[in-house]
Amino acid sequence: VRPNSPAARDIAHHLHPYTNWRRHEADGPLIINSGKGIYVQDDQGKEYIEGMAGLWCTSLGFGEERLVQAAAEQMRKLPYYHAFAHKSHNPGIDLAERLADMTPGDLNHVFFANSGSEANDTVVKFVWYFNNALGRPEKKKIISRIKGYHGVTVASASMTGLPNNHRDFDLPIANILHTECPHYYRFGQEGETEDAFATRMADALEAKILEEGPETVAAFIGEPVMGAGGVIVPPRTYWKKIQAVCRKYDILVIADEVICGFGRTGEMFGSQTFEIQPDIMVVAKQLSSAYLPISAVIISDKVYDALADNSAKIGTFGHGYTYSGHPVAAAVAVETLKIYEERDILSHVKAVAPLFQEGLRKFADHPHVGEVRGVGLVGAVELVADKTTKASFDPAGPVGVQLDKRAIANGVILRNIVDSLAFCPPLIITDKQIKELFDRFGKALDETEAWIKA
Ligand code: PLP
Repeated sequence: VRPNSPAARDIAHHLHPYTNWRRHEADGPLIINSGKGIYVQDDQGKEYIEGMAGLWCTSLGFGEERLVQAAAEQMRKLPYYHAFAHKSHNPGIDLAERLADMTPGDLNHVFFANSGSEANDTVVKFVWYFNNALGRPEKKKIISRIKGYHGVTVASASMTGLPNNHRDFDLPIANILHTECPHYYRFGQEGETEDAFATRMADALEAKILEEGPETVAAFIGEPVMGAGGVIVPPRTYWKKIQAVCRKYDILVIADEVICGFGRTGEMFGSQTFEIQPDIMVVAKQLSSAYLPISAVIISDKVYDALADNSAKIGTFGHGYTYSGHPVAAAVAVETLKIYEERDILSHVKAVAPLFQEGLRKFADHPHVGEVRGVGLVGAVELVADKTTKASFDPAGPVGVQLDKRAIANGVILRNIVDSLAFCPPLIITDKQIKELFDRFGKALDETEAWIKA
């Protein structure tokens, strides 16, 4: 790293999220300068396929001029206004209406935030306020899942079910519990069908509810497909069974669609792919194709009515962000949703997803690939030390990191999650580009296999 270079200045002053800082001092940053379509370029002019759409978010790829225009126009007209205490603005109104129209069932009321984490913190407050409104303040516990990901603010990190989000931070906070992870490859038992596994998952949830007392359990939250936990696609019947348990005990169902929302799983929402009828839905990321930060919590008529009664009786809902529904971000989101419709992005995803899923599954033959999984335009390849026993590599070992590095050297940016490599390309990816993505990844995988052998 040359003195005073951007890399040296980065190491000196820029604290990166989710980073081993000592390793960063040694390795330095990968500095991305520009992007076009599914490709990005680094500061040395090397091109990469952005195989993760950034952090599962740049659905329309890079350089979408209409989003730039929408932002510029709104900036000139009204660069900022807020929505506290009855104020409003047209981009916020348009976006709320559009989300109410698009989302399934009677999800008709939209609260804006800026990130998935903030949206999920809002969810926790909605759930508590809801049960206070109904005169049952003891019904407060929220159940999420081991390996679920809901963000990093204190309440959201508590719902997240990954050890490094809890360890060292004294989390989870009270009233947040975790149930089993529906990963059949890892947790299915000898001779158990996927459906029987799903039943066992639902039974485990019910047992937990009964152990805690149903009168104390308020909500269940989950991603239709777990993303950051390793792209874990549940058995087809899983959500139906989970939902039945929740309904039996009057427990709200919350779908965290931060990754799945807007076409990722092959339907507009993951809830439609997995037949979930959520009482509350959370969206972010692809809502604005990530061009500006914006997220939303969308609640059903039933939840809204209780909250609204409460806000009239016991006081104003004491929660909201300076930038809730920021007009420029909202204008970009409205334009994003228009583009999805005009270009029929959903039909495009349905058309290319089979090639993507088949392409991924071709890697299953590799000597160290334990499982390939995915749905729509999201997937993962999991490496194992031993395919027969499914034994993982030493968790402290560098196999996933190695594969990640080889992928970058071969011109594709993916994401390693322990020993799984996640794929989540921009939704605009074409057949030809999918082949190119897998060619580059295939080389990285071969090199990693050779490295393991050596
Ligand atoms: N929920 C899910 C399902 C996510 O994947 C993420 C981020 O990856 C979040 C919530 C948190 O979102 P953010 O990073 O915008 O706070």
